[in-house]
Amino acid sequence: MGAWPSTVLGAETERFQERDVREMNVTAGTVLADTIRTTLGPRGMDKMLVGDDGTVVVTNDGASILDRMEIEHPAAREIVQVAQSQHDRIGDGTTTAVIVAGELLTEAARLTEQGLHPTTIETGYARAVELALSALDEHSLSVDPTDTGMLEAIARTAITGKWSDEEARAIVELVVAAAQAVERDGTVERRRITRTTIPGGSPTDSELVAGLAIDMDASSTTLASLDVDLPRRIEDAGVALVDDQLTVEKADAITHVSVENPDQLGQFADYEAEVYEGQASGIADVGADIVFCQKSIDDDVRARLARHGVIAVERTRQDEMHKLARATGATLVKRVDELTGDHVGRAGVVDRRTLADTELVVVGDCPDTEQRSLILRGGTAHVIEETKRLIENCLDDVTLAIETGAVVPGGGATEVAIAAALREAADGIAGREQLAVTAFADALESIPRTLAESAGLDPIDTLVALRNRHDDDEWRTGLDVNGGELADMVEHGVVEPATIKRHAITSAAEATAVLVGIDDMLMATGEGDGEHDHGHDHDHGHGGVEATGGYPWAVGH
Ligand code: ADP
Ligand code: MG
Repeated sequence: MGAWPSTVLGAETERFQERDVREMNVTAGTVLADTIRTTLGPRGMDKMLVGDDGTVVVTNDGASILDRMEIEHPAAREIVQVAQSQHDRIGDGTTTAVIVAGELLTEAARLTEQGLHPTTIETGYARAVELALSALDEHSLSVDPTDTGMLEAIARTAITGKWSDEEARAIVELVVAAAQAVERDGTVERRRITRTTIPGGSPTDSELVAGLAIDMDASSTTLASLDVDLPRRIEDAGVALVDDQLTVEKADAITHVSVENPDQLGQFADYEAEVYEGQASGIADVGADIVFCQKSIDDDVRARLARHGVIAVERTRQDEMHKLARATGATLVKRVDELTGDHVGRAGVVDRRTLADTELVVVGDCPDTEQRSLILRGGTAHVIEETKRLIENCLDDVTLAIETGAVVPGGGATEVAIAAALREAADGIAGREQLAVTAFADALESIPRTLAESAGLDPIDTLVALRNRHDDDEWRTGLDVNGGELADMVEHGVVEPATIKRHAITSAAEATAVLVGIDDMLMATGEGDGEHDHGHDHDHGHGGVEATGGYPWAVGH
């Protein structure tokens, strides 16, 4: 009992009965699942969310919303764990995992009402997971890294409803091209795709660069103040990388001149000028058109470099220096006076861009083709985090598909197919466990029901129609929410990596087992002996969510 914080249960903590706990778990799960379904639906409307810190976020992404909910109820917290694990390990499928977890809890409550012992529910669910996973394998299709059409379908499914068709198409093409470019032997080297997100413009202005896009605003570098007009675009450019300060070391200067009278001050200035010019011409003479410096560059040196026609970028991040080295074939030197022609790398093009308020240097068409940069545009600064997250989702799904080689039809098709397999297997399972396996099938079908609802269709009619099609062996049939029609999801390009479903099913079932298990534990220690009061009313929370200040699962308690 100590596991339940008294703040949640109130003053009655010490006296509550095990059935209260179950009711609470179940109500919380059901209400949460309802909330998620009605507010998110996979094609849900964008919601304005106001975070604790006052920031406004516009999203319809399940993970984002859950992130911002304050979770106090233990059952709700368990479900949020499901979402978090799904998000952290898989990236996508958060809403699915949460809905299934909520439904499994609801079903568990129903079964308990009917007199099933929690242990029976647990073993039945565990059996259902095994059966579901093997049905999932049977209903998977294989995909290979060169299958651009299939990979684009996966990317498009991941971002359904998040952008307009045209915008989505642009993003999908870039994401798939980036993943394919860095794929080697079935592994997507994600760290070789850098992502730069720049607010403003349209997603259709996004692009993929074979090289790097370096954000100059991250450094204090500004080329605007120079008295020389540097070229905005240089073809076949020499690239130098220096891990040194381009300035005069004070200690160095003092050993050369001692500043005791005005004459010597002049000498000092001369000395400085000589060093600066030496640094600038040294870089220009080895054939560099652009120099990236990990540390700072003195204004004077920058101006001199500009007169030599060399673009200077200071305070470049270390990881960017290494990526530039690999992409251009340049060698990073510790001291500027060590720099020789051999250290200079090449880029097919160096392009300076001003996008909205951002200054970018694009080092493109690099000899090492395995480095890619996505420059993503669109939205305001407010939604940029959401944009990034969706792109990561999209990239996650494409990566998973390439690395596991297994995809399944979306739009509820896979859930209906698995449910059918579960019901068939349930026939051969003796005893009450059979009921738990069937209940598991019902819980999975909440996904097509939810999709139907968000497409404005009748969930029951849609489910029945889907089941009929599956009975005729059309296991790829699902609901395309765009056209609102039942169709072969693979032909309609609604496909997802099988791993998403695998993880969602497993983690939803595990969370349910934890919660059902708590009841079990309480029963062993408490007054309950497996006999249940069948008379009490369950509030399944279908009344929706009241204004409870962001705690929907507190409804009814
Ligand atoms: P979220 O990413 O919002 O957390 P999920 O990834 O868990 O949501 O669920 C998205 C669901 O939407 C999946 O079942 C997927 O198959 C489905 N889906 C995506 N695009 C379509 C579409 N065009 N038609 C039907 N279903 C779709
Ligand atoms: Mg998704």
